[in-house]
Amino acid sequence: MSKQLINGLHHVTAMAGSPQQNVDFYAGILGLRLVKKTVNFDAPDVYHLYYGDETGLPGSIMTFFPFPNIRPGKAGLGQAGVTTFSIPKNSIDYWLRRLAHFGVKFREPEARFDEAVIYFEDMDGLGLELVANDADERQPFTYGQIPAEHSIRGFYSIELWESAYERTESLLAGQLGHQLVGESGSRRRYSVDEKGKPGRIIDIVWDGGKAFGMGGSGTVHHIAFDTPSDESQLAIREELLSAGVRATPVLDRQYFHSIYFREPGGVLFEVATTPPGFLYDEDRKHLGEALKLPPWEEHRRDYIEKLLEPITLNPEKYASPS
Ligand code: ZN
Repeated sequence: MSKQLINGLHHVTAMAGSPQQNVDFYAGILGLRLVKKTVNFDAPDVYHLYYGDETGLPGSIMTFFPFPNIRPGKAGLGQAGVTTFSIPKNSIDYWLRRLAHFGVKFREPEARFDEAVIYFEDMDGLGLELVANDADERQPFTYGQIPAEHSIRGFYSIELWESAYERTESLLAGQLGHQLVGESGSRRRYSVDEKGKPGRIIDIVWDGGKAFGMGGSGTVHHIAFDTPSDESQLAIREELLSAGVRATPVLDRQYFHSIYFREPGGVLFEVATTPPGFLYDEDRKHLGEALKLPPWEEHRRDYIEKLLEPITLNPEKYASPS
């Protein structure tokens, strides 16, 4: 019954160190669009940077809280250990050359469920991957520094690192409407559709021997699932509460409405609404250009702007290696 209430992934939020390095990596090297520059609504002296496709559609949005002086975290159990992006099947050589050109270390491509995967890390050590596949029907976006045919299409999947899979599986398959679509060794793959389309895949990777993770830069803070409306969000919330999952009340995140809850393995989950989206307070052409503050912080804009390190996009520095 809850199957149609979740469309797949909405966004992934991680912690970072330097905001400028973060912009250079995600907008520069990976070629995602900075679709919103705002502040952490719970700590407005820290940026909240949103990257995505042209308009930041659900399933493409990677967000960061860059704290210049934060301690480094450690990836481990109870976290979303690896965030995986989708690239076209014939783009693997392009990306290997591009990562090498910009000095990003990566592992040689490995096979997973018949697709090639490249593992690499951002400047804070956050685990990332590119999966080359021909199942992604989403529109490409590019600033121009990456040929559109090779650009990242959005998320492919997320890896949850767990000591065991059963209890998390029961939440995913029950209240969150996912089904098991694949299994390989200690990896169990779930999706809201039976094929497991890019942007809709959750992999539980279970290993009871691994250490628990520690929050800090280079780690994922939470992952969010996409729900089409406020009504569907309330329906999921009711289902969670009746299953004994303590979901928060609905919070206004300006660009979406959110509920949060901790899954049994320890990862913080969010369910976020598709509307209103990032065109809510900027037009398509100017997304990400101005510092956006929530209405309740506008009266101290001057003060907040002084606390934030200025950041700039440098697309020309990240043109394709010839
Ligand atoms: Zn979130």
